[in-house]
Order: sequence, then structure tokens, then C-alpha cells
Amino acid sequence: MSSNDATLIAHVDLDAFFATCEQRDNPEYRGKPVMVGARPGGRGVVAAASYEAREFGVHSAMPVSRAYRLCPEGIYLRPDFAKYSAASKQVFAVLHDISPTVEKASIDEAYLDISGLDKLLGSPETIGRRIKDAIHEATGLTASVGIGPNRLIAKLGSDHNKPDGLTVVPAADVLDFLAPMPVENLRGNGRVTQQKFARLGLKTIAQVRAADPEWLAHHLGRRAAAGFQRQANGIASAEVKTGRQRKSISKERTFQQDQQAPDKLRSVLVELAQQVAATARRESLAGKVVRLKVRYRDFTTLTRQKTLHTPTQDDKQILATAWALLNAGDLPPEPVRLIGVGISDWADIDGVQGDMFSTTATQSDPRLLQTMDDITARFGTDKLQRGSRRGS
Ligand SMILES: [Mg+2]
Repeated sequence: MSSNDATLIAHVDLDAFFATCEQRDNPEYRGKPVMVGARPGGRGVVAAASYEAREFGVHSAMPVSRAYRLCPEGIYLRPDFAKYSAASKQVFAVLHDISPTVEKASIDEAYLDISGLDKLLGSPETIGRRIKDAIHEATGLTASVGIGPNRLIAKLGSDHNKPDGLTVVPAADVLDFLAPMPVENLRGNGRVTQQKFARLGLKTIAQVRAADPEWLAHHLGRRAAAGFQRQANGIASAEVKTGRQRKSISKERTFQQDQQAPDKLRSVLVELAQQVAATARRESLAGKVVRLKVRYRDFTTLTRQKTLHTPTQDDKQILATAWALLNAGDLPPEPVRLIGVGISDWADIDGVQGDMFSTTATQSDPRLLQTMDDITARFGTDKLQRGSRRGS
């Protein structure tokens, strides 16, 4: 306990990042509703909406056609990636000055391990203030900061009081902080789980905490139930990954019952490939090698891999490669206990061109995919589909 008491994680989240960059550089946009993303009349989405725009009900991931109906007088801008990327680099340079342990969660979000810095820099409030001030001084942008004993609390803290907020949650206050929050604030809570929580009548984190573990396990599955109750008790990872030493990204799934049906295997591979690709994009990694792992009933484990001509972080390409490896005919046609997908052998992904928000954007434009990841990370996967899939 005593070593954990000292653990302090900060989550830093820039406020309406793309939109605020534009307001910073164009004083005439300040105090006005600004939308960055697709052009009105197009079929794309709003990538970022200023806080003024949010008062009209506009938010990121909203189809721009809808945003335009809500706010026709708004300022609609195309994204300027060079600008956002430069600002992001400045922000991360500032963060690295404050802590050696910085994890880039996305272009405008970071986790910092600030354990032990209190002796050097002062109280958690002082450190949080310092982070915000340093970002503002370097870039003119505002950030919201949450500080707590682990990632979950830090992240909920930065969300707690946006924009330009600072929320410090000491370990002793974690349970009270979480108690009134909606269950949607728990990680790993997708649309299907949210429906289950609703059916079970569980609205707040306090209710999840108080639920009978066996009853919850019966409805959500043992692993998910235990995970949500751990979170509801404020228990979560405090690990901040700097991302330098990672050699590969892989995801795998163990079946409760061994599987052989191609449909079932494929649907799991779809999910795993999406997870691998999302992690790769978040960490700006692209791999040349795709690896498939299959474990059978007797625990025999086989891997197959393929080297691509160009590095990838695209779920479709990872899926296609893994699927081809699975069906190459050299794996035993037997029920599968576990299946996994991974990528490795990193290479540069710079220099990809494309028009991010047009419906003709290439499916594998990393900037489009990264922005989609940013949006889905915030709003859940059901809120956003690629334009070309919409309506199908
Ligand atoms: Mg942000």
C-alpha cells in the first residue's frame, strides 16, 4: 500500500484541439462557433468543434450536415494537419520537460507519471498548474488536466472540468469521486454493455460497486463483471508506457468453447485486427510483418507470418493478411482454442497524402484513421463509420 500511495498519474487533454488552434491563429474566430472537418454539404464528419459550437449542440464525430442544420452561422474549416502536428510536438516537448515518463495517447492527449515529482515541484495542484501554464506559454493553447492515483482517475479527472480545468483526486477521495458518475465512464463499456447496464438498472458507478458480484457475473460474464467492479472501486492501471521499447503489437482471444466455424473465426479476427491497427495508429507505428497465432485444443501453438511490401497500420490489410494465413492450407483444420494477430518490424509511415474528410479519401490514410480513433476513443465505435460505409 505505502508505495502505491505515492503513485501519481496526470492525464493531459487539450481542449477542442483543432478548433482551438484555429482560434489561436485567427483572432476573428475567437468567441465564435468553429467546426474543423468536412465541408458543409459534404458527407464527412466534424472532427473538432469549439466550445462555442458545442452550445449549439454540435460535437465532434457529428455528420457535418447535421452540424450545419444546428449552426448554419458557424465557421467551417478544413483541417490543417501541419499546424496541429507542430502544436502537438510543442506540447509533448513541454511535457517531457516536466516528467521523463510521458505516454502519447493521441495527438492531443498524454499520460504522465508524476510520482515523486512533488518533492521537486510541489503539490499535485502545483504540478497540474505548471503543466497547464507551460503548455499555454509554449503554444497559446489551453489544456485540461486530471491527476489521480491511476490512469482511470486521471482521465476522468481531466474530463471532469473542461475546458481549461484542473482536477486533483487524492487516493482517499477516489470512491466519492467515482460514486455519482454514470456507468458510461467506466472503460471497456461499449454500446452493448451499456444496454445491459440499463436493463439491469445500473446507472451510476456506485451501483456497480454495490452490485452482487455473482449476479453481475451472471449477466455480464465473470471477467467483465470483475473488471467493472475493480474500476468502480477505483482500481486501475498506473502504468505509463513511453512506447519506445515496444517490439510488436498483438491481440488475442481465447474462446470459451473451441471454435472451427470460419464465420466465427473471421469475426474475431476482424475485431483483433481493428484493435491492433488502432493501437498502431495511436502509437504512430506501422509494421511490415503480420503474424497469426493459433492455439489448438491440446495447447499446440502455431504461428504463421507474412512480410508485406509496405508497412501497415490498417485494419483491413491486417485482417486480409491474417485471414489468408489462416486459410493457406498448412494449418490443421481443427477446433481453435485461441487465435491472435500481431504486427511488428516497424517502418516509417510519413509522407502519406490524402484528403482526410472527403468521401474519396483512401481507406488507409493514417490521418483519417488516427482521427477516427481519436473520435471513437471518446465517443464509442458506433458513433462513427467511414463515409464510404455510411448508409450501407
Ligand atoms: Mg482533447
